[in-house]
Amino acid sequence: MIKEYSHEPFTDFSIEKNYQEMEQALEHIKSYLGKKHSLLIDGKNVETDEEITSINPANKEEVVGYVSKASKEHAEDAMKAAHYAFESWRLWEAEARAELLFRAAAITRRRKKELTALLIKEGGKPWKEADADIAEGIDFMEYYGREMIRLKDGAPVKSRDGEKNKYIYTSMGVTVVIPPWNFAFAIMVGTTVAPIVTGNTVVLKPASNTPVIARAFIDILQEAGIPKGVVNFCPGSGSEVGDYLVDHPLTHLISFTGSREVGTRIYNRASQVREGQKWLKRSIIEMGGKDTVVVDKSADLEAAAEEIFISAFGFAGQKCSAGSRAVIHEDVYDSVVERVVKIAETKKVGDPVDGRTYMGPVIDQSSFDKITDYIEIGKEEGRLVYGGKSDDSKGFFIDPTIFADVDPKARIMQEEIFGPVLSFSKGKDFKELIEIANNTEYGLTGAVFSNNREHLEYAKGHFHVGNLYFNRNCTGAIVGYHPFGGFNMSGTDSKAGGPDYLPLHMLPKTISEML
Ligand code: GLU
Repeated sequence: MIKEYSHEPFTDFSIEKNYQEMEQALEHIKSYLGKKHSLLIDGKNVETDEEITSINPANKEEVVGYVSKASKEHAEDAMKAAHYAFESWRLWEAEARAELLFRAAAITRRRKKELTALLIKEGGKPWKEADADIAEGIDFMEYYGREMIRLKDGAPVKSRDGEKNKYIYTSMGVTVVIPPWNFAFAIMVGTTVAPIVTGNTVVLKPASNTPVIARAFIDILQEAGIPKGVVNFCPGSGSEVGDYLVDHPLTHLISFTGSREVGTRIYNRASQVREGQKWLKRSIIEMGGKDTVVVDKSADLEAAAEEIFISAFGFAGQKCSAGSRAVIHEDVYDSVVERVVKIAETKKVGDPVDGRTYMGPVIDQSSFDKITDYIEIGKEEGRLVYGGKSDDSKGFFIDPTIFADVDPKARIMQEEIFGPVLSFSKGKDFKELIEIANNTEYGLTGAVFSNNREHLEYAKGHFHVGNLYFNRNCTGAIVGYHPFGGFNMSGTDSKAGGPDYLPLHMLPKTISEML
């Protein structure tokens, strides 16, 4: 009997024992930093001459690992292996595939602190965020395993007298998985195990900033007993290996999470039918956000200020769900801005290896450069009320930065910055607040703080986002509780961690037999 799904609890680091264990884990992983990691193709480890060097964004000198870099030839071998393995893997019983995920979840749970430590080093995540990332990876395995068991006999259809009809879900084929670095464990795990549990095979091209944690997960899948060829690990460049895999005629499904630029590129390429291709490719594309926290004049202002801060600066704003815009009713505007600035003054920015750090570095030099450029733009477009300083001498550190009095159409209110930059605008009534909230090309998350029921009902119908939250922050969706995905240029709204997700990885088949 499988226990009902409930999400993996977060670790409470205010408990001394947990704090100490985390410090020990950070000490322990030092021994395997700087190691070499190979590709995995058809169950075999493959080492290459060319490598990706993964560094700690809080300390550029520290190498987290050297990871083999796949060429087109390796990608081709991986495609062939995945295509071959598909024929037997798709026939495994749904329960057996689900059990593999449950075993992998159990191994992950046992190694949770060590993996959290690795993510702190490789992703620059503060403890709390890294712990939540590993927990979410476990959740995806536990949830999708159960979902597959729920869907294994298909969905009910009617049968007339003298016939027996069935509607079942069958596997698709080779899936190319291209996850992001910002949820380097959770999203990488979720987008890899969903195709696997539905009987597809995978070629995984991890994010080049975080390939070591991805390889650690491949080892977990192997320990859990995954057959050769079912998952293949191919780190490499997007323009060489990524495009090659997306364009390949044997690719049937593409699962991508990342920027709008790369997402739309993949979407376009996937629509082209290549020589020898027998199907139309399906793509699951999750892209960016420019998400808004709206504060009505009836709101609890202290709670709103706290949650605005969390939404904007959790993991240094490097979430597609980040609330990088706060749109406030003019009557309470000054008070909310002031409260958020006060909160910012109390938060510690620094190396996330220290458990007291609230906000660590941004991921790499190009992110640092892009964000600091936006801060300069912000100084022209708004009033800098907090932060604005940055330092990339040791790691890629940028202070939480807050701009007030920004025009809703200004660039910093419209373009995804993906960093610790928050902009405030005001509106004269609730309708106008929602109009401003909707005025970007994205539609991922949004939050409304209000104690006016009529206004909340209005927001339900008019605030056009995939994940709408009332009186709470707009980040931190939990698998199976807050299915996650967005509208418009945020993507295909495929709702990871929700009941419609696995069917996107399968082909429904109708079987009708005369009795
Ligand atoms: N699911 C995450 C959240 O709710 C965001 C995922 C992302 O940034 O890609 O905060």
